[in-house]
This record gives sequence, structure tokens and C-alpha cells, in this order.
Amino acid sequence: MTPPCQPRVSIVTPCFNEAECLAEFHARASAAAQAAAGDAHEIVIVDDGSSDGGWEIMTALAQRDPHVVAVRLMRNHGHQLAATAGLSLARGDRVMLIDADLQDPPELLLPMMAAMDAGAEVVYGQRTRREAETWFKRVTAAAFYRLLGRMSGTPIPRDTGDFRLMSRRVVEVLGAMPERQRFLRGMVSWVGGRQVALPYERRARHAGTSKYPLAKMIRFAADALTSFSTSPLRVATWFGLGAAALAVLLLGYSLLRWVQGGTVSGWSSLMAAMAGFSAVQLIVLGIIGEYLGRLFQEVKGRPLFIVDQVVAGQAAHALPTDFARLPPQARQATWEAIREAANTNRAAEHAA
Ligand code: UDP
Ligand code: MG
Repeated sequence: MTPPCQPRVSIVTPCFNEAECLAEFHARASAAAQAAAGDAHEIVIVDDGSSDGGWEIMTALAQRDPHVVAVRLMRNHGHQLAATAGLSLARGDRVMLIDADLQDPPELLLPMMAAMDAGAEVVYGQRTRREAETWFKRVTAAAFYRLLGRMSGTPIPRDTGDFRLMSRRVVEVLGAMPERQRFLRGMVSWVGGRQVALPYERRARHAGTSKYPLAKMIRFAADALTSFSTSPLRVATWFGLGAAALAVLLLGYSLLRWVQGGTVSGWSSLMAAMAGFSAVQLIVLGIIGEYLGRLFQEVKGRPLFIVDQVVAGQAAHALPTDFARLPPQARQATWEAIREAANTNRAAEHAA
């Protein structure tokens, strides 16, 4: 039952307080992976700073099932970075990224593998129906994707999440993209190659509530827009041109009034113009600030995530803190050493 050195497929799932979903997720994901790749699979579960006892469940799973690798991040880093951590640890020739809440059925691994056998580089799930998602979420998501599609040069398919199967090549390219403000589905589109959609129905959560409250969703949307488009910065230019045209008209008007000798009235229009222009300037400054702040975050170049420990088998292992920045071969070597230690451990337990 020991997993072979090179898994054919890895399932990567970021978890934040999903204790109630884990057992069911593991059962379904491992059945799907067995069906798709036999023993040559691994399930990388990333604990993104849960506080609901999820980590204990994950380590228990890792001890019971040699295919499971439980990874604990030092604190909550957010969905996209937790997924990035999982992707950097996954070793499979193909990697499926999926949420732990079972809104996306793990069973789709099989058709996704088939589409890849037919030559796809990426197979992404496309939602045909969003069961049990609020009216508000559906409408805002639709509006957001329309806006993003117009503003970014990268075509980003609508109605998709991060649920997808990717080739090793694509995963390596993602790993080589250093940015912190990660909008993974857009980054995957950006890579290119043959990317095909697999329509499916998105279910209701297995248990628990969404970990994406409105504030987080807005931040996510802002990250997506700013990392895939600079056209908001051009808003300033358009406002500026508009204001200049208006100013010429106003100048003509005030000269006319001056000639006519009726100059003191017009306080209201003056106030209105001043307030309007100040508002526009502040808005534009704010937009520039959004980019500047992100630029600052990127320039600092901090590691994207910090791994606290990795549990494979009975033993817990520490990863070097700069793991994410190591070149692929060095990452692979570190990782093989951890796996080796886990297997030796397991063999020793069997002998005892
Ligand atoms: N998640 C995470 N860190 C976070 C927030 C969410 O790892 O800070 C995980 C969460 O456990 C789930 C996935 O990301 O597996 C998607 O989150 P959720 O299902 O809450 O989002 P929704 O489906 O409601 O958009
Ligand atoms: Mg969900």
C-alpha cells in the first residue's frame, strides 16, 4: 500500500475550518483517485490555519492512509496562497485542485483525466448551475466576470472557479510566477495551451458555511482586476480629458458673463464644480493607491506562505522556510527525503 515514488495524479485541497467535511472528502477523493490512477496517487491536504480541530483529523488521515500528505501552514494565508502551497508540494504528473467542501465533485477526476489523455493541458470545471448559492453571489459573480473579461487582455472563462486538473508543465509555470496577489484561475488561463471546459453542476456545501465573506470576496475581485488589467489607471486620463473639455466651456461662459457685467452670482455652480473635481481627484488617487499598495507588497518579496509542518505517515517534518523559492529539483529532493523518512517510519512500525 505504500505509494510509489512518482504519483500519476495529485489531488490538492486547501482547507480552512472544514473539519466537518474532511472525512467525507477523503472518502470520495481517494475513491476517485484510486479509480483514476490506482495506487499512484496522493492527496495533499493543506490546513490554512484552521482552529476547529481540522488539523488533528488531517494527521489522523495521513497516518491511516499512506496516500495522504497533511500540510499545516503557520497561520491563515487565504485560499489562493494555501492552494499555491499545496501545488508546490504536489508531485503528480497531473494535479487536481479542488475545494474541501465537496461543492465540486471529486468524481469528475475521471472525465478530466480522459480529456487530458485526449491532449488537453488544463481541464477546468465550468458551472452550469449554482445550486444553493445566493442570488446576490450569482449576480455579482456574473457582473464581475463580464467586467474582468473586458478589462484584461487574458481571456478568463466565465463561471469557473479553481476546480481543475492541470498538467505538470502548467503547475511548474504557476510555481515560477512569483506574485503574491494570486488569481489562480486567471494565471492558469494566462499560461495558455489547450484548456478545455468540463461542464458540471455545483452543489451545496457538504457542511459548514462559506469561508468567503463579502469583504474577502471584494478583496479577491480587486486583486483579480489589478493583477490582470491596468486599464483602471487610465480612468485618470479619461477623467482628465473630460474635465479639460468642461473647463474650456466654463471659461468661455465666465468670460461671457464678465463681459456682460454680471459676475458675482454663480457661487453654487462654483461649489458644485469644485466638489465634483475634488471627488474625481480623490477617486483617481485611490485607484493609483490600489496599484501602489500592491506594488509595495510585491517588492517586499516575502515568501508566499510559511509551512509549519508536513505529516506523511506517522512522522511530522519541517520544511525549509524558503521552500517555495527553491528550484524544482531542490524542492523535489527535499520532498523525496520527507517521503523517504515517512516510508521508513511506516516500515519500522510494521516490523514492531
Ligand atoms: N479556504 C482556505 N483559506 C481561506 C478561505 C477558504 O483555504 O482563508 C478554503 C476553504 O476551506 C475551501 C475553499 O478554500 O476548501 C473555498 O472556500 P469556500 O468554499 O468557503 O468558498 P465558496 O465556495 O463559498 O466561494
Ligand atoms: Mg465552497
